Amino acid sequence: MIIFDNVTKKYGNGTVALDSVSFAVGAGEFVVVEGPSGAGKSTLVKAIIREIGINNGQIVVDGDDIAKIPAKNIPLLRRKVGVVFQDFKLLPDRTIAENVDLALDILGLSESDATTRRNELLNLVGLANKADDFPVQLSGGELQRVGVARALAPKPKILFADEPTGNLDSKTGSAIIHLLEDINSQGTTVIMASHDLDLLRDYKFRRLRLDHGALVHDTAKHVSHAKKEASQDKV
Ligand code: ADP
Repeated sequence: MIIFDNVTKKYGNGTVALDSVSFAVGAGEFVVVEGPSGAGKSTLVKAIIREIGINNGQIVVDGDDIAKIPAKNIPLLRRKVGVVFQDFKLLPDRTIAENVDLALDILGLSESDATTRRNELLNLVGLANKADDFPVQLSGGELQRVGVARALAPKPKILFADEPTGNLDSKTGSAIIHLLEDINSQGTTVIMASHDLDLLRDYKFRRLRLDHGALVHDTAKHVSHAKKEASQDKV
């Protein structure tokens, strides 16, 4: 679903935020991209939705080399990859329902289809009873759920959650991870960027570890390597 082949991103000030990064994420996987602040996690998602260009390498999303997508089709790429931001990005003077509606507007649905979809999304994230509230009336965990509902509006194949638990206490953060697991179990490929190693300790997700822009560890590779060694031992 996503292939990074030797991707390098160097910002104008000389910072190398992605350093020859290569990995592949299959359809339906749940992958955590971990690493401390500044490791390159946000740069990775910005590159996937072509918010920024890369200096070297290739990024393939759902079969398309994204560098070759004409500018007019970038909105279609961004419908395939829903992004949940740590800071929610909700409009404070709009209700929760209206905030979700804004994400639905671009899809050109009829009014009744848009209302149906909005209600589905609010149900999915457990906020049907908060539709008429304003963001200020919601807790951090609830606001993050609105962010998830908005990101899912166009039925993306991939959901990228950038530090979705960053502003939350551990119990609320775990509930958001469970929500992402539910979404993943319904077929959406989920990538979650996080620096919160404590929160992730009890989960068995595949993890890609970034450090200063370099991919230094991929548990999937580690596992297959370990399996290979085990089978060799038996021989
Ligand atoms: P993370 O999301 O893991 O915290 P980022 O992708 O935001 O990491 O940043 C990776 C590195 O790139 C950091 O050193 C950061 O300071 C730098 N960086 C991020 N955005 C820019 C930018 N627009 N211009 C210059 N450097 C940047």
